[in-house]
Amino acid sequence: MSVRVRFAPSPTGFVHIGSLRTALYNYLFAKKNGGKYILRIEDTDQSRFVEGAIEGMLKAMAWAGVNHDEGVVMEDGQLVKIGDYGPYVQSERLEIYQEKIKTLLDSGHAYRCYCTKERIDEVREKQKAAGEMPKYDGLCKCLSEAEITAKTLANEPHVIRLKLPENRDIQFNDVVRGTVVVNTADMDDQVLMKTDGFPTYHFAVVVDDHLMGITHVIRGEEWLISTPKHMYLYEAFGWNPPQYVHLPNILNADKKKLSKRQGDVAVEDFLKKGYLPEALVNYIALVGWSPEDNQEIFTMEELEEKFSLERVSKSGGVFDVNKLNWVNAHYIKESSDEKITDLAIPYLISAGYITEIEVKESYEWLKEMVAVVKEKLSYMAEIVDHVDIFFKTEIKPEDDEAMEILKGENMVTLLDAFASKVEAAEVIDVDFGKKALKEIQKETGLKGPQLFKPIRVAITGQSHGPDINQIIKILGKQNLLSRINYVKTQLI
Ligand code: GLU
Repeated sequence: MSVRVRFAPSPTGFVHIGSLRTALYNYLFAKKNGGKYILRIEDTDQSRFVEGAIEGMLKAMAWAGVNHDEGVVMEDGQLVKIGDYGPYVQSERLEIYQEKIKTLLDSGHAYRCYCTKERIDEVREKQKAAGEMPKYDGLCKCLSEAEITAKTLANEPHVIRLKLPENRDIQFNDVVRGTVVVNTADMDDQVLMKTDGFPTYHFAVVVDDHLMGITHVIRGEEWLISTPKHMYLYEAFGWNPPQYVHLPNILNADKKKLSKRQGDVAVEDFLKKGYLPEALVNYIALVGWSPEDNQEIFTMEELEEKFSLERVSKSGGVFDVNKLNWVNAHYIKESSDEKITDLAIPYLISAGYITEIEVKESYEWLKEMVAVVKEKLSYMAEIVDHVDIFFKTEIKPEDDEAMEILKGENMVTLLDAFASKVEAAEVIDVDFGKKALKEIQKETGLKGPQLFKPIRVAITGQSHGPDINQIIKILGKQNLLSRINYVKTQLI
C-alpha cells in the first residue's frame, strides 16, 4: 500500500509555525516512503473563514519548499486543483457529505437532533452543576419515525448526530502515543451535520481521509481527543482507519503552548524578518523530532532521507528563537554574497538607504558591503543596523567610548595624516587602508588601537565594528573625506 498523507489546514488566518511543522512532517514522511503528500482545505466552518488565508498559506508553503503533490495550488492568481481525488476544498464537497450522512442515517449510526441551542445549553449547565461531563443527553435519539416525519414536514431545523453505542471501549494505536482507549461513556454524540447543511470537521475529515485514500494521519496533538469519534465513524462506515500520528505541541520557553503573545509564531513573521526558508525548515524539523546522531544542519534532501515517525518525541518541543537564529546565521554565512545581497536589498530600500535605481548602479558596491557584515547577521532585517555606518552622512559617536576616543589628543594629527593619504590615493582598496595605516604609524609613532580606533570612530562613529580596511574601501574617497571634514569641523 503506497503512503498517502495530507495536511489539512483551515483558512482562518496566518500560518502558525506549528502548522508548518505538521505540513513538513507529512511532506517528509511521504518523500521518505515514496508516497504522495496532499493539501486539503478544511473550510466547513464558514464563520471562521478569513479572506486571503488560503492564498497566504499556499504562499508560505511554497516559500518554505514544502510542496504538495495533490490538492489546491495557485496558478495565475486562481486556485486550481492537481490530482485525481478532488475537489480538495471541503466547501466544494457538500454533495459528498450529504450522500455519506444518508448512509449513516440509514444504517442507524446517526440521528437527527431537533434540540434548540437553549435546551442544549440548559442541559450542559445542569450537568456541570452536578459535576458531570457536559454532553448531549440523547433526547432525540429516541424519537419515533412518526415524530421525525412530522418534524421533517414542518421543516424544523436540525443537526445530525453520531449515535455512539453505550459503554464501549474504543481503542486505537497512535505511533507517538501508543495504545489509546476511551469509553463511549466519556464521549459525546458528536454533531456531524450542522443546520446550515455543512458537515462538522469531525465528519468531513473522516469522509475525506477515506475517499482520498489517506494511509497516515499526521497532525497536532490537539486532535488526539477527537480521534475516538473518528475511529467509531470508520467502524460505522465499515472502512479501514488510517494510522494515527499525533505530534507533540510546540512550546514556549516557559513550557506553555507557543502563542502569539510571546513573540513571533507565524511563518509570515519569520519571512518578513528575513529568515531563510531552508533555515526555518531545518530548525522546525528538529522541534519534536531528532535524528539518530547529533546532526543539526540538514538540507531538505537530508531530512527527506533521515526523517522517521519513530523518532518523533512524545513531549512537546521548545521553540528556542536563539537556536533558530544560530541555524539561520549559519545559512546566511554559507550563502553566496550575491544571494544575501539580493535578500538585503528590500530592507535597504525600505530603510531609505538606497533607491531602486541606485541599487542597479551600485550593485557591486552593495555586494562588497553585504559581504563585510554578513557574518554578523542572525536574520536579514538586522542588516539595516549593521550597515548604517555606510549610509549615514553625519557621524555621531555611538557611545561613551567612542566619544572619549574622539576627544583624544592625537585626533587632529591622525585625521590630517589620514586625509592626505586618502586625497592622494588613486584607488581606495583594502590594501590602501593597510598601507596608509602603516605609513601613519611610522609618521606619528602611534600604533595598534591608538591608531585605528580613532580613525574607526572618525569615519563610522563606532569604536567597534567590521574590519577597518574593508570599511575604508567601501566608504571610498569622497565619503572618507567628507566624514573626516565633518568630524574636524563639527565634533572636535
Ligand atoms: N482542519 C484541521 C486543522 O485546522 C485539521 C486537523 C487534522 O489534520 O485532522 O488543524
